[in-house]
Amino acid sequence: MPGVGPPVMKQLRNNVIRAGLGALYFSGAHHLLRPLLSGVGAIFMLHHVRPAREAAFQPNRHLEVTPEFLRATLCHLRSRDIDIVSMDELHERLVQGRFARRFAAFTLDDGYRDNLEFALPVLREFDAPSTVYVASDYAEGIGRLWWTALEAVIAKTDRIDVQIGNAALRLDATTQAAKRAAFDRLHDWLRALPGEHDLKREIEALCARHDVDMAALCRSLCLSWDEVRRLAADPLVTIGAHSISHCNLAKQSEEIAAQEMTVSRARIEHALGRTVQHFAYPYGDREAAGEREFALAASAGFKTAVTTRPGMLFAENAGHMTALPRVSLNGNYQDTRILPVLTSGAATAMWNGFRRIAAA
Ligand SMILES: [Zn+2]
Repeated sequence: MPGVGPPVMKQLRNNVIRAGLGALYFSGAHHLLRPLLSGVGAIFMLHHVRPAREAAFQPNRHLEVTPEFLRATLCHLRSRDIDIVSMDELHERLVQGRFARRFAAFTLDDGYRDNLEFALPVLREFDAPSTVYVASDYAEGIGRLWWTALEAVIAKTDRIDVQIGNAALRLDATTQAAKRAAFDRLHDWLRALPGEHDLKREIEALCARHDVDMAALCRSLCLSWDEVRRLAADPLVTIGAHSISHCNLAKQSEEIAAQEMTVSRARIEHALGRTVQHFAYPYGDREAAGEREFALAASAGFKTAVTTRPGMLFAENAGHMTALPRVSLNGNYQDTRILPVLTSGAATAMWNGFRRIAAA
């Protein structure tokens, strides 16, 4: 999953993006900006692909799009005559400077079962390659999908008691708005905890108090190794690594961060009997992947590594192959009118304050 900032920033950012995307769409400004901003290609980032759910409380909705929206996106790209390529092909085009045709890659993070069930059939309709980045603990069925567990905890309770630092907090969760506020508060607290063991302790305590089985959530949502093998058997699919435990690599020692990359790759290679050459940083934002992690991924021998920093690809990205930006297909903006804006690059350029390369 990608990272998110503090609640106020997040809200502000969402409002700016929503207003900005609307303004760009309705003014047609993206058509004027395109020659400057469209770049040579893009890497799209997805997580879950599944039919829309009924539940009113869906704080993780930004992490899922429907099969119909994925189909609409693929249609749009085909109509614009944009090549849909694998990460190997994308790497080659960047290295060789082959930019006569624009291109896009589809990437799916974490390794969810719905990727096999719902995304793959749609991608096959378009003969479209994709890369699925698997966190090896998730495929083992022991991963901590803590943001999903937190959603489950808050969905089923009216009140949450937590100790945050020295303060004992009682959070109201009686209304949808209160649940959302409680989620944002706890999500940001958990993400900001200093170590992985702190996160593990706190989310496990919350799950225990509210009778949520985090391991069962992982097993119900994530591809098992057998299913990863079924997915990998499709010639359109590349499997990449996404660390062992889905930890924030920037918070680990250099040794542990390197191990998270190389051991997760070794486990996937062992399960599939083929080499793994592409990596996605868990969370992938500035707080989770920086210069040290980019260098570690390069020295571990990955051909590419993708962040969650928003941006289109430019020729200059060839010099930063382990710090590639992506364009999120965000579940909160599943409006087909947004698609021309996304592929114009105007949306991500706005997000980045019109900086082209965000490798630093
Ligand atoms: Zn992830």
